[in-house]
Amino acid sequence: MQTDRVEQAMRAGQRLHRIPGGLRLQHNKSVSCELPVAKAALPPRLYVPLPGPIGVGVGLLVKPGQRVRKGDPIARSDPGAGGWVHAPTSGTVDSVVSHPVSHPSGREGPCVVIEPDGLDGWTDLHPLDDWRLADPGELRRVISEAGIVGLGGAVFPTGVKVAEASERGIHTLILNGAECEPYISCDQMLMREQPASIVLGARILQRAVGARRTIIAIEDQMDAVRHALEGALREAAAADIEIVTVAAVYPQGGEKQLVQALTGLEVPGGGRPTDLGLLCQNVATATAVARAVAEGKPLVERIVTVTGNGVRRPRNLLAPVGAPIASLIDQCGGYEPNAARLVLGGPMMGYPLATDSSPVIKAANCILVLTADDIRPPQPEMPCIRCGECARVCPALLLPQQIAWTVRNGLWDEAIDFGLSDCIECGCCDFVCPSHIPLVDWFRHGKLELRLRAAERRRADIARERFEAREARLARIKRERGERMAEKKRVLADEGARQEKIAAAVERARSRNRGKDAT
Ligand code: SF4
Ligand code: SF4
Repeated sequence: MQTDRVEQAMRAGQRLHRIPGGLRLQHNKSVSCELPVAKAALPPRLYVPLPGPIGVGVGLLVKPGQRVRKGDPIARSDPGAGGWVHAPTSGTVDSVVSHPVSHPSGREGPCVVIEPDGLDGWTDLHPLDDWRLADPGELRRVISEAGIVGLGGAVFPTGVKVAEASERGIHTLILNGAECEPYISCDQMLMREQPASIVLGARILQRAVGARRTIIAIEDQMDAVRHALEGALREAAAADIEIVTVAAVYPQGGEKQLVQALTGLEVPGGGRPTDLGLLCQNVATATAVARAVAEGKPLVERIVTVTGNGVRRPRNLLAPVGAPIASLIDQCGGYEPNAARLVLGGPMMGYPLATDSSPVIKAANCILVLTADDIRPPQPEMPCIRCGECARVCPALLLPQQIAWTVRNGLWDEAIDFGLSDCIECGCCDFVCPSHIPLVDWFRHGKLELRLRAAERRRADIARERFEAREARLARIKRERGERMAEKKRVLADEGARQEKIAAAVERARSRNRGKDAT
C-alpha cells in the first residue's frame, strides 16, 4: 500500500528531500521577534465577520442588545464554511452590519458588532475530563464545535479535515512550523513561547485521527524554536513526536511542498496529503486544538505579526477576531510617515487591504505595512521571451507561461491539462519574470473562471435533472391515465358483454316461454 511505503520511507530516515524550484528570500523576521507576544488591547468595537449572508447557510444566534460572554456561540454555518462563530470577548451585541471583511476582493460582508465590556470574561467552559481516555469521535466533535480552521492561512475547517483524515487512515501527523514567507513570525513566536501547547495539540490530534507519530517541521534557522520544542518534548516524554528541520526555501512551508521535502513523494495532482496517509496541520492550529479540548475554549483569537518598514514598532500581538486592524497598528506605535500599502499576509502570497478598518480574521497571520521604497514600481508588461525562468522556480513543476497563455486565450480544457488547479499561487514565477507578466493574477482569474464554470455546470445539471424528472413525471401521469382509460374501457366492454349475455339469456328465456305458450 502507498501509505505503508510512505511510512517506511519516513522511518528509514529518507526524510529530507529537495523540493523543486523555490526561492531563497530575505527573511526580515527578526524585527518582529524582539518583543514577546503581547495581548492586544480591546478596541471600542469588534467586527466579527460571518461566513456568509444570514439565512444563506448562516444562522445568527444573537440579537442586538444581547449580552455575550467570551466564547459564546454567536452564529452557526455549514461545517464546510467554518461551522461555529464565537464571541471574541464579553460585552453587548450592538448590531449586524455590512463592513469591509479583509478579503482580496475588498468587498464588504456581514459582521456582528460587539461592544466589549472590558472584562474579557469567558463563558462557562467545558473541557474534556481526560482527553487521553476520550473517544476519538468525541475529540473530533469538540474540534469541530470550537470553530477551529487552519491558521496557516488556508482556513480550511479543521473539524472537516480531521474527520476526512480519520476515515482515510493516517499514520503520521505533520505539524507545519516552517513559516517560509518573509516577514511573518507569528508561528515562530508561538513555538518559542508556547511549545507545550503545541506538543499537547499534537498528541490530541494524533488520537483524533489515529496517527502513530508526529513530525514537527521547522526551518533550519530556528534554533530558539528547536530548543523550546525539545524542552517541551522532554517534559511530556513524547517519544512519538520528533522535530525535523527543513531548508529555509520559499515555499517549503506549503503543505504539498513540505510533504515532498519530508517524503520525497509528490501529492498527486488534485489530491491531498491524506492520500499518502499524512495529515498536515499548522502549529497554531494544534495549539487551538489543545485549548479547545483541554480548556474548553473555542477559537476566538490568534497571534498576528504586525510588521514592515511602514509601522513604528513591529511585534506580534495576540488579537481577538474582529479587532479593526487600525487598533493593532496603533498598539505598534502607528504608521511611519512613508507607509504606503497595507497587506494582509506576507509579501509573496498576501493581498492588499483597502482600509485598516477591516477586522482581524482567523486567516490573519500577518499585517504588513510597506513603504513606497519597499514597493517595486509598476513595470510595463512585455511579451514573454520564453526564457523558462518561471518554470525553473515553480515548486509545483508547472509551466507558468503556458498556463498563463491558455488562460489569456480562454482555453480552459488546456489550462486544466497544464495543471492550473495545482498552482499554489506562491508567486515565485511572478517574482522572477523579466517581462513583468502578472502570472499569478492570470492564474487567480483562471481559477475563478473555472469555479464559475463548474458552478454553472452544476446549475445546468440540476436544471437538466429537474427537466428530466418533470418529463418522466408527465410521462408517468400520461401512461397511468392511459392505463386507467384502458381499464375503464375494458370494464365497460366487459359490462357490455355481460349485458349482452344477460339480454341474450333473457331473450332465450322469452323465446322458450313463447314456445311453451304456443303449445
Ligand atoms: S519568466 Fe516570464 S518571460 Fe520568461 S518564460 Fe516565464 S513568462 Fe515568459
Ligand atoms: S504561482 Fe503557481 S505557477 Fe507560479 S511558481 Fe507558484 S505554483 Fe508555480
